[in-house]
Amino acid sequence: MPVRFFNTYTREIEDFVPIAPPLVRMYTCGPTVYNFAHIGNFRAYVFEDLLERHLEARGFKVHRVMNLTDVDDKTIRNSRAAGAPLEEFTRRFKEAFFEDLKRLRIKPAAEYPAATEPRYIAKMIEMIRELESLGIAYQAEDGSVYFRLSRFPDYGRLAHLNLDELRPTGRIRNDDYEKESIGDFALWKAWDEADGEVGWDSPWGRGRPGWHIECSAMATALLGPELDIHCGGVDNIFPHHEAEIAQSECCTGKKFVRYWLHCAHLMVQGQKMAKSVGNFYTLRDLTEKGWSGREIRYALISVNYRLPLNFTFEGLAAARSALVRIDEWAARLTELAGTGSRASAHALAAETGFQTALDDDLNIAGALGHLFDTIRESNRLMDQGQFTAGDARALLNWWNGVNGVLAFEPEAAAIPAEIEALLDKRALARKNKDWPASDRLRDELAAKGWEIKDTKEGQRFVRRPEGAQAAQI
Ligand SMILES: [Zn+2]
Repeated sequence: MPVRFFNTYTREIEDFVPIAPPLVRMYTCGPTVYNFAHIGNFRAYVFEDLLERHLEARGFKVHRVMNLTDVDDKTIRNSRAAGAPLEEFTRRFKEAFFEDLKRLRIKPAAEYPAATEPRYIAKMIEMIRELESLGIAYQAEDGSVYFRLSRFPDYGRLAHLNLDELRPTGRIRNDDYEKESIGDFALWKAWDEADGEVGWDSPWGRGRPGWHIECSAMATALLGPELDIHCGGVDNIFPHHEAEIAQSECCTGKKFVRYWLHCAHLMVQGQKMAKSVGNFYTLRDLTEKGWSGREIRYALISVNYRLPLNFTFEGLAAARSALVRIDEWAARLTELAGTGSRASAHALAAETGFQTALDDDLNIAGALGHLFDTIRESNRLMDQGQFTAGDARALLNWWNGVNGVLAFEPEAAAIPAEIEALLDKRALARKNKDWPASDRLRDELAAKGWEIKDTKEGQRFVRRPEGAQAAQI
């Protein structure tokens, strides 16, 4: 079965055929670096990571570009409020963003262009000039340059808006606006007082680019006129992605994107995330509450991307238990795999349900279902002594492949010196058959979050998941 995706443009599930396989040119709208990204943003980035990893597991070579929007209405507004130059202000949030990506185990994109880099500003100006020469862009009396919507009849097709029913609203200078507002959008915004120090010289005077032209310029500069996949959250569809299509296709004369993939909204505790409701979380907020990056990754990844995700603390706790279950199973397999050399007899390792579920429009719920079926079945066989070392090794190999897509492995926890000392003491107590001391030390270690199991090979210890004692929020 080929890989298939739901294409927002056609509203149909389609076989995935890139322009020049195995290469996949993929563009993902990145953060606007005016604040810390929130978990709604990260839902989209985790989904894009799953998409990239699955395509790679299926033999594609993904070249992914993610932009950083470091100049727009919001970055300028917030940097001025903070009394900091734009560049200095956005740098802090760029750095924080990369730390967050790492914590969520999101594979770095091939490139992270930033809108204010001179080569991209030049590319934006070049595109706007091209649109102007075609009569599609025009400078208005306010000095800004706008896109003449009447020249692009396909506007609204991605969002499936019926433009005939919507009243044109003239010109729109804001980067973001409501679905009801259909108007000529700004490509270049003439400098005004609110821009402060921010501005670039252009054929239309001093000003700055609109948000939409930034993405068209960076995407086509790095990936060419035709992209295989373009992703984002559903709230990017209108007006942002509509505008990207209009600008890019008018400039290049080619179909901008083959497959548009959008992930659905994230709710928190059943409500729309909003600062005023008190359910607005950045990644930092959650890690401070004791949740690890991989637990948050699990919670964000485990719901199919086109379904709304209700993010709850019960969901995080469920993610924590699921990961413990996987860890224990993998540790058990590893232990068994080291005990002998008998060949594999079971077919579990040939299980392909995980991959085929993901082929079907990234059905992660189905894929995880297959994983946990495999865990249950192999645990049962191990309980009954019907699983050989060879079986365990073969299944571990399978798990390595699957985990290449999931990235669920435990954090490589360094053992603190204090814990090391207690472990040594306990090993000595056991050697001396001093059972009361051994038990006391085990309790002491458990109180510090390290659980000890005694096996034939000696003490085995597992670090309880971060913050396991303080799981209730
Ligand atoms: Zn974008």
